[in-house]
Amino acid sequence: MRMRYTAFTALMASAALVLAACGGDDADEEAGDVEASEFEEGTTMAQLAEAGEITIGTKFDQPLFGLQAPSGEPVGFDIEIAKIIASELGIGSDGIEWRETTSANREEFLKGGQVDMVVATYTINDERKQEVDFAGPYYNAGQSILVLEDNDEIGGPEDLAGKDVCTVEGSTPAQNMRDNYPEANLDLTDTYSNCLEPLRQGQVDALTTDNVILSGFIDQNPDEFKLVGEPFTEEPYGVGVPKGDDEFRSFINDVLEESFDDGRWLEAWEKTAGEVLETPDTPEVDRY
Ligand code: GLU
Repeated sequence: MRMRYTAFTALMASAALVLAACGGDDADEEAGDVEASEFEEGTTMAQLAEAGEITIGTKFDQPLFGLQAPSGEPVGFDIEIAKIIASELGIGSDGIEWRETTSANREEFLKGGQVDMVVATYTINDERKQEVDFAGPYYNAGQSILVLEDNDEIGGPEDLAGKDVCTVEGSTPAQNMRDNYPEANLDLTDTYSNCLEPLRQGQVDALTTDNVILSGFIDQNPDEFKLVGEPFTEEPYGVGVPKGDDEFRSFINDVLEESFDDGRWLEAWEKTAGEVLETPDTPEVDRY
């Protein structure tokens, strides 16, 4: 009896320490109540749960979705989605290593094992599926155009002919511009935030990428920029996983669907992108 009492006291003390270390009351910062043995031996889920650690690729410069806070920790909807998935592996915030991925290196990072998964405004498409696999989508965005507030020359992609347009190498918007609007002069860089100063200075006429990324920049820089026209592509955001890891992909699809149904997806949205953007319907997961 005495033994049990002591063990119980020790357990309570360590639980208090863990709570103090978390320093917050956010349920999503805590690991879900998951044992590695719940997963089939040899699967990615079992390995990650056993290690208690996961490395996740995300963007660090995109307000609302993935933005590095002064603390060094990223914040945004992608981050919350990633935390929901990690927590279902029994991994809390402390066990997540965030690695910055750019648009151009996501496939390489997944293939090279630098990251276990990528949650980074990452459009699911057939070309990328040759190299990696995707769970999701968990959100549907669309390509749009950002210009200075007082620009009244550009109203849509057809007005970009002969204009200097900044976007990011390795992104679907860059590819779409090459394929469908070849008369625009593309100015390519590696992160979207690199386009903001040239846009301010008039060195480029527009920045094009997904509407929600651009909305984040508008929110961050009030009265400077505006979106023009309607979104002109479909950009379903998926969670990138190494090619052929069907069990991991299927596990993530299950977690996403559960989060759509039990309110965690909505909660994640409302405390991040939802502070600025309208709440969308939950998308249909594509279990290809
Ligand atoms: N969603 C698009 C893509 O995956 C644009 C945003 C980005 O570059 O991350 O390429």
